[in-house]
Amino acid sequence: MPDSATLLRDVFGFDAFRDGQEEIVQAVTAGENVLAIMPTGGGKSLCFQLPALMREGVTVVISPLIALMRDQVRALQEAGVAAGALTSGNTPEETEAVWDALEAGRLKLLYMAPERLAAGSAMGMLRRIGVSMIAVDEAHCVSQWGHDFRPDYLRIGELRRALDVPLAAFTATADAETQEEIVQKLFDGSPPRAFLRGFDRPNIHLAFTAKDGPRRQILEFAAARKGQSGIVYCGTRNKTETLSQGLREAGHTACYYHGGMEAEDRRTVETRFAREDGLIVVATVAFGMGIDKPDIRWVAHADLPKSIEAYYQEIGRAGRDGGPAETLTLFGPDDIRLRRTQIDEGLAPADRRDADHGRLNALLGLAEALECRRKTLLGYFGETAEKCGHCDLCDTPADVFDGTMAVRKALSAILRTEEWFGSGHLIDILLGNETDKVLARRHDQIQTFGVGKEYTRPQWQAIFRQMMGHDLVRPDRERHGALRMTEAAKPILRGEAGIELRRDSIRKATRRPAVKA
Ligand code: ADP
Ligand code: ZN
Repeated sequence: MPDSATLLRDVFGFDAFRDGQEEIVQAVTAGENVLAIMPTGGGKSLCFQLPALMREGVTVVISPLIALMRDQVRALQEAGVAAGALTSGNTPEETEAVWDALEAGRLKLLYMAPERLAAGSAMGMLRRIGVSMIAVDEAHCVSQWGHDFRPDYLRIGELRRALDVPLAAFTATADAETQEEIVQKLFDGSPPRAFLRGFDRPNIHLAFTAKDGPRRQILEFAAARKGQSGIVYCGTRNKTETLSQGLREAGHTACYYHGGMEAEDRRTVETRFAREDGLIVVATVAFGMGIDKPDIRWVAHADLPKSIEAYYQEIGRAGRDGGPAETLTLFGPDDIRLRRTQIDEGLAPADRRDADHGRLNALLGLAEALECRRKTLLGYFGETAEKCGHCDLCDTPADVFDGTMAVRKALSAILRTEEWFGSGHLIDILLGNETDKVLARRHDQIQTFGVGKEYTRPQWQAIFRQMMGHDLVRPDRERHGALRMTEAAKPILRGEAGIELRRDSIRKATRRPAVKA
């Protein structure tokens, strides 16, 4: 058997392993149970394909993406590797050929769609053919609370027990809860050897901006990148349609994509995007897994993603060829409110909801970061980094000011109205506006009335947004989105802690009074 470096060169045509690949290949080849977390485009497939060639017998690869499986099988066959796939996309002849090769002991890699595991015959067949290892791609699909959940993935644990062979699981999703679920459901709770590598994508420029006319902001961003392939992620289906219309009117080639479309129309968009240069797809998160276009030059978020992982995965679709790629993520108080409500109204159990709030907080922390975004982002994934020189905050350092007094006034307005109001009314109180609502509730009588006149309404809106970003206040859905204080706010209110706020978003708010609350 040739060594791994020789196979790497002769079969896969690569001169060297990428960062992280070699250790994983060694562990998998040695028959260890492995959980490898690598970013999309990091080169996961090699980490099970190469060991499959080094080991006796057949490696079964479970993957949810039929098109991707077929691509990999084709590429392996072209490289002279005996690989086959059993999926619903097969012709009867193809299936027949795979079975024959298996029975004859000729196959090294057998790709299977998870739903194949449901058929009773599959288990018997796999027992017979001498499976030496199971590789699971997109292992986070086993997580019931993720949006890629595949019920058939729950059968993989059963398969591992029945065959009693090592299992190597791969995913790009790095959060702790999902990892824990993978360990429970694929490895019966006994921790595999874990690898977490290479989350940095240095070619991707990172940037966040507060919403300030989001449609105009996206159009400006796209206009500066005319003719380049890009994705705009939106929070709602409706917005994908109107925004793609807007982009077309501005002279771009653009189309929309969301889960409410016919499967065939979605496929048309996927194919066009893969083949055409310079197409913009305006999409919900339904446009995601399995997009394998290497030269996506930019990704913009018209709305805040739901978590730091979602953000990372979505921007990670840009620049997979290693070429320059740019991103822009817009965020505003409405997004934060919407995301909180979605978490609270979801079906997840309480501890999972807390974790989801935590991951949203991590993203908000990134949005409101005061220095290098990459440092903050990689820090979340457990990697340390220096200032990257390739994000908006490295380009232009954030200008901060001591926001303690402003925040204290806002918190005091919240407390003196007993946490029953949203930012619009609270700002009226701070500004001393005698609106009908203020007068009806006698809020012109409270101590906080009119104490915030040093800021304008848009500036107060920016302050409230940053307070949400720092998780000092949260909208309570039982109170129609009224802002309530969190534990984190208490030291500031008591004068035991201070807080810095970004001046740039406050300034911008002054210049453009059209900010929407
Ligand atoms: P993913 O981690 O998303 O499954 P892939 O396995 O599809 O990523 O790999 C992404 C790209 O990187 C592919 O084009 C693959 O050929 C390439 N690649 C993987 N390993 C290496 C390597 N050691 N050297 C050069 N290119 C590599
Ligand atoms: Zn940076």
